[in-house]
Amino acid sequence: MKDENCIFCKIANGEIPSATVYEDDRFRAILDMGPASKGHTLILPKEHFKDVCALDEGYASRVLSLGGKIGAAMKKSLGCSGFNLVQNNGASAGQTVFHFHLHVIPRYDDGAPMVTWVPGHADTDELKETAECIQTAL
Ligand code: AMP
Ligand code: ZN
Repeated sequence: MKDENCIFCKIANGEIPSATVYEDDRFRAILDMGPASKGHTLILPKEHFKDVCALDEGYASRVLSLGGKIGAAMKKSLGCSGFNLVQNNGASAGQTVFHFHLHVIPRYDDGAPMVTWVPGHADTDELKETAECIQTAL
């Protein structure tokens, strides 16, 4: 299913031109127009899923290996030494376009720090309680 009002549906299906790095029957991977680093790529399913929770199994089973394949190609072609796979779900998590996408962000040895956080503290009891809380909802 496509969403007529979704820009990523239009890009993924070729109705809006993009800098495409990869395409198959299910996905189009394009360069992000506001790249975090040179080569920053977005993998877009051709069907509309608002986030990872809505993603169909057929897409979910392929998207991670595609991220790895594109990341490996970036290392060969762009000279990055690593890459991050980033996927935001919900506005509080930084999602701004509500059509599932997987970021593939090349990382260079001299690049700025990103995709990082300050580690907090949690004691064993708190970790156990939190783990049980999540388990009950699965
Ligand atoms: P997120 O914050 O995870 O929802 O990521 C959305 C990403 O889409 C951002 O990195 C934007 O720079 C990128 N973006 C938004 N519109 C376009 C577009 N028309 N073409 C390419 N990248 C886009
Ligand atoms: Zn869409």
